[in-house]
Amino acid sequence: MDQTYRILLVEDELYDAELNIREVKKILPNSLFERVDSKNAFIIMIETYFPDIIISDYNMPSFDGLSALKIAREICPETPFIVVTGSINEDTAVECMKAGATDYVLKDSLKRLGSSVLNALEQSKIRKERIDAIETIKLNEAKYRHMFHNNPQPMWIYDVKTLAFLEVNKAAVKHYGFSQDEFLSMRLIDILPQSEADRLMKNIESTDYLEDKAEEWTHKKKTGELVSVEIVSYFIIFNQRNARHVLINDITEKKEAEERMINGRKLLRTLIDNLPVTIYVKDAECRKIIANRADLNVLGAETEAEVLGKTDLEIFSNDIGTRGYADDKKIIETGIPVLNQEEYFYDSNGIQHWLLTSKIPLTDENGKITGLVGIGHSITEQRKMQAELIEAKEKAEESDRLKSAFLANMSHEIRTPLNSIIGFSELLDDPDFDAEQKTEFIKHIVDNGNSLLMIISDIMDFSMLEAGQLKLRQQSISVKKIMNELLTEFGHKAEVRGIQLRFDDSQNDPDILITSDSYRIKQVFNNLIGNALKFTSEGFVEIGYKVKDEKIEFHVKDSGIGISPKFHQAIFERFRQVDTTKSRKYGGNGLGLAISKNLVQLLGGKIWLESEPDEYSDFFFTIPISNL
Ligand code: ADP
Repeated sequence: MDQTYRILLVEDELYDAELNIREVKKILPNSLFERVDSKNAFIIMIETYFPDIIISDYNMPSFDGLSALKIAREICPETPFIVVTGSINEDTAVECMKAGATDYVLKDSLKRLGSSVLNALEQSKIRKERIDAIETIKLNEAKYRHMFHNNPQPMWIYDVKTLAFLEVNKAAVKHYGFSQDEFLSMRLIDILPQSEADRLMKNIESTDYLEDKAEEWTHKKKTGELVSVEIVSYFIIFNQRNARHVLINDITEKKEAEERMINGRKLLRTLIDNLPVTIYVKDAECRKIIANRADLNVLGAETEAEVLGKTDLEIFSNDIGTRGYADDKKIIETGIPVLNQEEYFYDSNGIQHWLLTSKIPLTDENGKITGLVGIGHSITEQRKMQAELIEAKEKAEESDRLKSAFLANMSHEIRTPLNSIIGFSELLDDPDFDAEQKTEFIKHIVDNGNSLLMIISDIMDFSMLEAGQLKLRQQSISVKKIMNELLTEFGHKAEVRGIQLRFDDSQNDPDILITSDSYRIKQVFNNLIGNALKFTSEGFVEIGYKVKDEKIEFHVKDSGIGISPKFHQAIFERFRQVDTTKSRKYGGNGLGLAISKNLVQLLGGKIWLESEPDEYSDFFFTIPISNL
C-alpha cells in the first residue's frame, strides 16, 4: 500500500513502539508515526496531528489504554482505535469493545497488527463514505426544499389516491390565495369548478398515474376567480406515498390576449370583407396572402384559397399579369407607393374591369419592407358611362352631319325636278316653240313630276315605317311573274344606259307561289335595281331567286362600282351614303336601303350584301314562302 497514513502510538515502552512500527510498516510502508505516553500529549496530538488511526498500549504506568480510548471517542469518534495488550481477559476485551475500540491485538500475536490496522482503516473509510453520502442526501434534500418552496412558479405535490395536497410552495399559496395550512387540508378537487372536477375523475379512471402529463385546466382561486392554467406533472414517491409533482403556469392573460387578438382579427376581416373596395395584401415575394370578398369578385374567384400564394403572373396569364407583377416588385424594391393608378384586367369570363388602385408598401418594426397592401375601387361603370357618352356624342354628331347632308341632298333632289317642271311649264306658254317641241317639254314635266313623286313617296314610306303605320297586304303571288314585270319595267331604262338587264336562271327553280305583299316586294326590288343601274356604268344588272329553308332568297347583282366592306352595314341606316361629299357623282337621298331593310324585316326576312369594290355588288334578301 503506497498511501501515507498518520499513525499515533500511545506507548511508554520505546521497544514495544518499535515492534508496533515494524509490524505496521510491513503492510503500510509509507506510514508516518508519532508516539505519546501521557494524557496531555495524547490530546494535543489528536487535535494537531489528526491521526488516521490510533494504536494504544493497554497498560502504561502514567496513562492507560482505556482512558485514551474514551478521550479519543469524544474528540475524534470516527478515528479507528486499536488496543495492543500483553494479556487480556474477556472482561477487559468486552469493556474495550464497548468503549468503542475497533480491535485489540495481543502482544504475543503482534504479527496480526498490520492486518488489523489495514482492516480498521478500510472500515473507517467505508464509514466515512456512508456518512458523506448521508450528508449529501441531507444537503440535496435541503436544496430541493429550498428550490420547491422558493420557486416563483406555483407548484404542489398531491396524493394520487386521496387527491390530498401533500406539499404546496409559497408561489402557489400566493397565487391561489389559500394559506399553506388551508391547502394541506384540501384536496385537488376543491380547487376545480364542477365541470373540471368531472373531467379529473374521468382522467384518473382512464389514464396511468405513472405517466408524465402536460395539460390545460381551469382552476378556482380562493376568491372564486377562475384561471386557465397549463400544468406539467410527473409521478413521484413522496413520504412513502404515490404522488404527483405538479408545476403550474397561469395562462389566463395569455389566453385572453389571444382571444382579443382573434376577435380583433375577425373584426378586421369582417370589415375588409364588407367594404365595397378591393383590398389585398401581398408578401415580399408579391404573393397574395389576403384577398377580400370584393377582390375575389373582380377576379371571378369563388374562394380565397384559389388566389392565396399566387403572384399576378399566376393569377393573370397574359401581359396584365406581367405588368401587375412588375409594379408589385418595384414597390417592394423601392418602397415608393403607387397612388390612384387606373388599371384594367379581364376576369375569367373575359369581361374587362377597370380599377382605380393604390398600392402601399408594408414594413416591419425595423423598417424592412415585408410586402404591400393594395386598395382599389371599381371604375368599370364610370368607364362604361364615359365610353357610352363618347359613343352617344359621336352618334349625335354623325346624325347631325347626316341630317345636314340629307337636307342638302333633299333640297337638291327636290329642286332639280321642281326647277325642270317650272322651267318647262313656263316654256309651254312661249309661242316661239312649236307643238313637237312642246310635246317634248310635257314629257320632261311628267318625268320630273314622277321623280318628285318618288322622292315624296320615299319620305312618306320611311315616316310610316318608322311610326309602325305601314300595313301589308297578303296575297298569293307568282315569283316568276314578279321577275318578268321587273325585267319589263326596268328593261328600257337599262337599255338606254347600255347595260344588260338579265334574269339569273342558273338555279332552275320552278315558278313558286308565295303568300306575301307583292307591292312591297317590288318596292324593295325597285330600290335595289334602281341603285344597281345608278352605280353601274357598263356591264350587267342581274336579278334572280332560289328557295332556301322555307324561304325564298332574291338577289340583285350588278357589275358596278362596288361597296367597300366598311360600309356594308352602315348603308342600311337612313341617310347613309358611301359618298357624302358635295361634289358627289350620284344622286339620291340615302333612304332607299333603309326603307328596303325595314320593309324586308316587316315581311319577315333579312337583307344583306356581298360586294367587291370596283367589281360588283350583290344584294340579297329573303322572304318567307308563306307568312300565314
Ligand atoms: P341613295 O338614295 O343614296 O341611293 P340608298 O339608301 O339607296 O340611298 O343607298 C345608300 C348608299 O349605298 C348609296 O348612296 C351608295 O353609296 C350605296 N349603294 C347602294 N346600292 C349600291 C350599288 N348597287 N352599288 C354601289 N353602291 C351602292
